[in-house]
Amino acid sequence: MFVIIIKRLFVFLVPGSVLAAACFVVPRVSGFSPGRQELFLLAPYLITALGMYLSVHFHRGRPFMALLLLVIFYWSSRRYLVGRSLELSLNEIYQAFVLLIPANIALIALMRERGVFTPAGKLRFSFLAVQMFIAFWFFRYNFIASLPVIAADFGLPAFMTPDIVPVTAMFAGCIAFVITAALAVRRQAPVDAGLLGALAAFCIASNWITTPDIHTAFSAAGALALTLSVLRDSYNMAFKDDLTNMPSRRSLNESLNGLGRRYALAMLDVDHFKKFNDTYGHDVGDQVLKMVAHKMMAVGGGGKAYRYGGEEFTILFPGRSAKDIIPELEIIRKAIADYKLALRNVERPKNVKEGKTQRGARGEVPHVSVTISIGVAERGEDPTTPEEVLKAADKALYKAKNRGRNQVCA
Ligand code: GH3
Ligand code: MG
Ligand code: MG
Repeated sequence: MFVIIIKRLFVFLVPGSVLAAACFVVPRVSGFSPGRQELFLLAPYLITALGMYLSVHFHRGRPFMALLLLVIFYWSSRRYLVGRSLELSLNEIYQAFVLLIPANIALIALMRERGVFTPAGKLRFSFLAVQMFIAFWFFRYNFIASLPVIAADFGLPAFMTPDIVPVTAMFAGCIAFVITAALAVRRQAPVDAGLLGALAAFCIASNWITTPDIHTAFSAAGALALTLSVLRDSYNMAFKDDLTNMPSRRSLNESLNGLGRRYALAMLDVDHFKKFNDTYGHDVGDQVLKMVAHKMMAVGGGGKAYRYGGEEFTILFPGRSAKDIIPELEIIRKAIADYKLALRNVERPKNVKEGKTQRGARGEVPHVSVTISIGVAERGEDPTTPEEVLKAADKALYKAKNRGRNQVCA
């Protein structure tokens, strides 16, 4: 359990490192040459431009919106707030930002990806524009009336009230942070972690807005966390299979190119899967593929599992022989055959006799199970190229099917 939690926190590695880098840069900025300082001030814009370009390229509307919010904040705070001796907690622009940006980042985290310039994407941009208009109108005409609510300190002791961020905004920010963090831990997706990094960077930049170096460094860090998340997400798109979350065929091809002289591999195929799909429906079929993939990814002996395509999988064992890997594959074959998948919330089998449904006492959820066949091959005298070894494993798989399925053949 503890290990699982730690593993799930790895998703914050990239945004966390970016924030740490910003902390490292801040005390060194004053020693920069004038040219470098100019560049430093431009860094949030340059990184945002790159991030937006990548977001458009990879159809990622959520990071695009977050980048837009952060850059608007950076631009207007440089123009209207930084270095000015205002009572910031009473400044309209500042109030609007510290209240609305965290709330919007949490909203973006809750949203599903719908692209940038799609109809749904445009609707979301209009939503941002409407907010800006309302904020403007509200502060322009109702500012005095709303001030006591927004600037209230709710009777908190002095050490708990932040310097310039109003307490209302602090509470809103904390709620936004918890929502975004929970989603990032649950979904384990780079963009969600990037959004959390951006939110954290915004909180720091807005709270230390009177220190220009911190404000700029963390504005750049927020944009960088989002930009890197788009990059990582696009990498996953290419090299990870969407359904099973395991490495894809493309990833397998990359690995095959970098193999040494000795390796073994296995081709795995779900038995009678077509019939299974026809009996229980495509959704249950997908669920089975996820379960099967999960078991395969836990393979021992230094193996790595890939989705070859459809209901076919490949496991690659660098540095091993066919004889070495058969016991590991037997473990997987047995684990899958023994697994009973509960048919919850799915329509009843169309023809119960066809599938291996196991019904317990009345009222119990029915269970289904599947088996897999496995073909093994190793690099040797004859099959030398990875393509040939794959072909040999496919042949062995065919043999396993012919011999009655649910077995490993070499
Ligand atoms: P065999 O034991 O000989 O392997 O029989 P089979 O029915 O498994 O053989 P075949 O390879 O012809 O069938 C593969 C089926 O897998 C076809 C398709 O309906 C199903 N399939 C492929 N990809 C997916 C997927 O992503 N999800 C689901 N639910 N089904 C898939
Ligand atoms: Mg097949
Ligand atoms: Mg099959």
